[in-house]
Amino acid sequence: MSLLDDVKYLLSEAQENIEKAASLDVLNELQIKYLGRKGSLTAILKKLKDLPVEERKQTGAFANQSRKQLEEFFKTAKEKYSTKREKTFFDPTLPGTNPRVGVVHIINQVIGDICQIFYGMGFEIAEGPNVETDYYNFEALNFPPDHPARDMQDTIFVEGGRLLRTHTTPVQARVLEKQKPPIKIITPGLCFRNEAISTRSHVAFYQVDGFLVDEGVTMADLKGALVAFCKAFFGEDLKLKFRPSFFPFTEPSAEVDISCFLCKGKGCQVCKYSGWLEILGCGMIDPNVLENVGIDSEKYTGYAFGMGVERPAMLKYKINDIRLFFNNDLRFLKQFE
Ligand SMILES: [Zn+2]
Repeated sequence: MSLLDDVKYLLSEAQENIEKAASLDVLNELQIKYLGRKGSLTAILKKLKDLPVEERKQTGAFANQSRKQLEEFFKTAKEKYSTKREKTFFDPTLPGTNPRVGVVHIINQVIGDICQIFYGMGFEIAEGPNVETDYYNFEALNFPPDHPARDMQDTIFVEGGRLLRTHTTPVQARVLEKQKPPIKIITPGLCFRNEAISTRSHVAFYQVDGFLVDEGVTMADLKGALVAFCKAFFGEDLKLKFRPSFFPFTEPSAEVDISCFLCKGKGCQVCKYSGWLEILGCGMIDPNVLENVGIDSEKYTGYAFGMGVERPAMLKYKINDIRLFFNNDLRFLKQFE
């Protein structure tokens, strides 16, 4: 094979590769490979001097022609990329792309809504530790030593005799200890109970407790506050039912049901065809609790109430599994933007 054949072969190979090249980088690499100082064509040209005069002239002329041709090919191929760039221009009148912004977790939104309503009634927000002592979680709240809630099944104990609070009511004892009546406090927070995780219960859950201590506070005040809250949170057209109940820290105690706002009291799957939904627990603060924290129970009376956050949130937003609140699945969370 003559040197002329080598040049011809190189030319057709290079042409083919230029056509196939898919990017400017590839074209630049090819250009160096064929036309660079150490490139294939240069290597062929170096061998020209060994050829007989006539053949040298002919091959040399063809090689130079091929070089020019290849340079032209590269120029044309590269233009495809440079013209593309010129055509993309910035249009300042187009609407921009919104950056992805996170949302407040639905539970925090609901806590915010609940607190906002009570804030409007003059309540202040107080918080306490998640890891509590037996005293604040039970003893100060009038739990007798043999109360079933102290059982290992319900309470998660941690090192040093402490426990994860089973309700936010301990904050009540902590605040009453430090402040003098009149006191109006709402206490949102995380609570823990040693329960099996299912669609309806979880080891961790949120609660909002509230209490008011002042002179002459009666059950009528409690009822007024809760009716106002339920109507503001669930809707104006609902009824409330106070059922006698028992809590160690209130006497008398009641559980509050609201008429099912999904079926308007007619009965549906959610309210188990009763027309009523259990929403919260409440009562008049037991005089023992007031005395435990050094408040004169002859002079002062108070009411307290407490509610879960997940259940009202599930009812209001038609969520059927409590675990969704803790899974951090973006598909779920994004729905509450
Ligand atoms: Zn119903």
